[in-house]
Amino acid sequence: MLTLACFVPHSPVLIPEVGKKNVEQLNDTIKAYQSLEHDLYSMKPDVILVISPHSEQRSEAFVINQSPKLKVDFKKFGDLVTKFEFKNDIGFGYQIKELVETEMPVVLSAQEELDYGAGVPLFFLAQHLPKTKVINISYSDLDNELHLEFGRKIRKQINLTGKRVAVVASGDLSHKLHEDSPAGYSPRGQEFDQKIIKLLADKDIKGLAGLDPELVKESGECGYKSLLILMGILEDINYQPEKMSYQSPFGIGYLVENFKM
Ligand SMILES: [Zn+2]
Repeated sequence: MLTLACFVPHSPVLIPEVGKKNVEQLNDTIKAYQSLEHDLYSMKPDVILVISPHSEQRSEAFVINQSPKLKVDFKKFGDLVTKFEFKNDIGFGYQIKELVETEMPVVLSAQEELDYGAGVPLFFLAQHLPKTKVINISYSDLDNELHLEFGRKIRKQINLTGKRVAVVASGDLSHKLHEDSPAGYSPRGQEFDQKIIKLLADKDIKGLAGLDPELVKESGECGYKSLLILMGILEDINYQPEKMSYQSPFGIGYLVENFKM
């Protein structure tokens, strides 16, 4: 059964040892994360499925990480202290592969070190759930409809297993919101972020999947296809979207949204 579904950002600045005093600027995001963590903890999930934009990716296939151990650290960002690890629910990941492989390309990987796109959400959501297993998947350059369909299939597998599953779609919105954005400025960045927020609030999955590809590209996002997979998972469920926070102090859009069942 699906117990929790959310969309969250993954700026390494959110990690105290990385962000140091810049963490303060992301206070709303951190509060939203803490509230989600509280919900998740009480739901005692067996598995957390993390969709990350920065895991090993293939242009022409979805990737399911089958490394038995999944380790998180932020050494790349100068943090030598923070580290933790999870067991992978490799059986579950394999079942997803078996269910989808006749309809879409999917490959298995073995990436023991999780990327920050998975690591930051797990830092906030799962550190008090050390026995919960994790599944790590990544999206592809395949079309939007296939991402929705991949989500629908994951949903089917969730129903089949009888496990308590939380789905965490990781992604940042536009990286071009301000003049000082790391990816440069585009007026379409704000347009993209506002459209995403509205489409999620309206539960407009068709509208989301049909978003102008030029707008998506110009925004410099990394969360759009994570969201499409999540929407495929949620499509037939009576969920209630709740925007918990939206911030962009460094010119990148950070949205936390809970999709309440
Ligand atoms: Zn990203």
